[in-house]
Amino acid sequence: MAETSGFPAPGTGPSPATGTERGPATGTLRGLGVSPGRAAGRVCRMAGPPRLPDPIAVADPARELGLALRALETVAAELSARAKKAADSEAAAILDAQSFMAADPELRQTTEENVAAGMDAGHAVDAACAHHREALLAAGGHFAERAADLDDVRNRAVAAVLGLPVPGIPDPGHPFVLVAEDLSPADTVTLDPGTVLALVTERGGPTSHTAILARARGLPAVVACRGAMEIGDGTWVAADGTTGRVETGIGEETAAGVRREAAAERRRLAASSGPGRTSDGHPVELLLNIGSATDLGGGVEAEGVGLFRTEFLFLGRRDAPGFEEQVAAYEAVLRAFPGGKVVIRTLDAGTDKPLPFLGLPEEPNPALGVRGLRVGRVRPDVLDVQLDAIAEAARACGSRPWVMAPMVTTAAEAAAFAVRARERGVTRVGAMVEVPAAALCADRLLRDLDFLSIGTNDLSQYAFAADRQHGELADLLDPWQPGLLRLVGGCVRAGRAVGKPVGVCGEAAADPLLATVLAGLGVTSLSMSAPAVAAVREALARRSLARCEADARIALDADDPAVAREAVAREEPA
Ligand code: PEP
Ligand code: MG
Repeated sequence: MAETSGFPAPGTGPSPATGTERGPATGTLRGLGVSPGRAAGRVCRMAGPPRLPDPIAVADPARELGLALRALETVAAELSARAKKAADSEAAAILDAQSFMAADPELRQTTEENVAAGMDAGHAVDAACAHHREALLAAGGHFAERAADLDDVRNRAVAAVLGLPVPGIPDPGHPFVLVAEDLSPADTVTLDPGTVLALVTERGGPTSHTAILARARGLPAVVACRGAMEIGDGTWVAADGTTGRVETGIGEETAAGVRREAAAERRRLAASSGPGRTSDGHPVELLLNIGSATDLGGGVEAEGVGLFRTEFLFLGRRDAPGFEEQVAAYEAVLRAFPGGKVVIRTLDAGTDKPLPFLGLPEEPNPALGVRGLRVGRVRPDVLDVQLDAIAEAARACGSRPWVMAPMVTTAAEAAAFAVRARERGVTRVGAMVEVPAAALCADRLLRDLDFLSIGTNDLSQYAFAADRQHGELADLLDPWQPGLLRLVGGCVRAGRAVGKPVGVCGEAAADPLLATVLAGLGVTSLSMSAPAVAAVREALARRSLARCEADARIALDADDPAVAREAVAREEPA
């Protein structure tokens, strides 16, 4: 099958297609609020992959062939039309590439052969896609990454043959609350924030793709919401991405009221500005999480960049970006904050961010394997070129970036990274705290480092032994877990003892209420995606440092995250 241009591989697909118009007429569902804000509208569920019925004996092969080929043509045309309407070039490239797959002459030929061998249209398309999927997987690397995109083409084509709704993001022709089992990265890049009012998913956790993308786009989102797929299409609901509550069957008037209130809240937040401060002036830097300089285009006021995820420059490529290309990418970000803080994270590859050119072997437990800084054990050259490029970009714009390594686990690793980075001209060197062992030895790490930044997404995963994409374990991954907050508290104490900054750059920092708890624990900066900044700034400004500290004690002493959240919310200033 012909190769198509690069785009991210979708993760797990949604569940099999469900019927319509069922489930609770009115009531409240509870999930985890992962992207703050309220929205109300009619539900539109994302149809899952169609189930193929048993094969039928074919009486009219010409008819079956016509059905199968028309389905593939329809899918190619649909995807191409969506590419033309796509909000950005990344989404357009993904959709165009999938359209080419559906129109691929080899796929068509295999489908024809399958019908000639006696298959019905649905099974002919399904088997043709399965055949080419195997070929892609066998080719490995970049080709293997296309397999999930072919699955999506298969689902669409089989649905077309069977006359079922198109799987993927629906397009009901009006704004809607999108309800899904879960969303893949490919689904999420095609979301149109103009029509999707909020996301509610049955699965997914606080650090899942759905959550991260929703926050990046400022869309209210509730994940791990059991029963969500039971809500009938067209039902009016109100979703609260802060509390995780989804009210069903509310009626059009109530929905209009929720929308008015949410719009007023957005206007109020849009007017907020200035550095992060508690009501009595205690500073907590508000920083941005970005993947490239283009993420800085939204005009959000922040005090700098707290997490520049440089791996986005490396993803989906056959070769590492060269020195010059890297220098240009780092310079673009440094120039956006002349004299301001910019924290650059060195390449964080492995597990959910595979980089074929690294040539890393397959591992049975990739999350526990060679990832983050550990990649430097097998490919030290890649880290060295990156450090050189960062140092060169800093020289070129006369700035002193803060440079940190991901997945640092021991004091020895921290010391070795510090030596290596300083030798290559980096002057402020730090580490992400993402592994419990690093949190427990924060004082030792800080002997050789200038700062720490806590990655609560991975720290949750490793402290609670729960895969961060695992929706069924969302309660363990809740950043309000007192066990996680205790690890944060330990890092902060270590930083205070030697007067070095300790920030949080995981998704926990984007939850306004939890941000005040983190401030009360003593973190010096909070880094988040741009749409979260205003609400966090506002939450800090409403509380004194003493109130934040009292809230931190309440949260640390709670028995579980829900109790912690509710107890702190009860103390909300009027
Ligand atoms: C984290 O683990 O909290 C983090 C910020 O890194 P990432 O989400 O990129 O793994
Ligand atoms: Mg991480």
